[in-house]
Amino acid sequence: MSLIGAYDPDNIFAKILRGEIPAVKVFEDADVLAFMDLFPQSKGHTLVISKTSQARNVLEVAPVDLERLILGVQRVAKAVEAALKPAGLIVTQFNGAPAGQTVFHLHFHIIPRYEGVEVAGHGRSGMADVEVLKALATEIGGQIA
Ligand code: AMP
Repeated sequence: MSLIGAYDPDNIFAKILRGEIPAVKVFEDADVLAFMDLFPQSKGHTLVISKTSQARNVLEVAPVDLERLILGVQRVAKAVEAALKPAGLIVTQFNGAPAGQTVFHLHFHIIPRYEGVEVAGHGRSGMADVEVLKALATEIGGQIA
């Protein structure tokens, strides 16, 4: 998938937004949906996606939608920090398959870093236990301000 192309309404995040497949939700408002990454690179790896834009990547998104999304990312990142007390937080996103993007609906990753704990490489971690993700989602969601 190159940087230039059409939005596929059947991408997995679009299906999550439509409720067609399950996700372990952390937080939702009119602008964004946050849910646990099913293949977390570290404990608490959370994704935040736009509900108002069908941009595939950061190049395509309208400024107004990007503003709403990044404010949601900050809000969720603060909740991750409050809930899990990591030593650091990576906030990142990938644009185009050669850059590592695998789902083509604009999203940000929030990846906590803990002292002395290696982070799994992007796309290199196994599937998490959904019950563990649900417990983390409850902890993080409880800290949304
Ligand atoms: P990217 O590779 O930047 O496009 O990120 C896509 C992310 O979505 C990866 O970190 C995957 O682990 C994650 N992912 C894929 N499918 C699901 C799913 N059904 N629920 C939650 N996260 C998913």
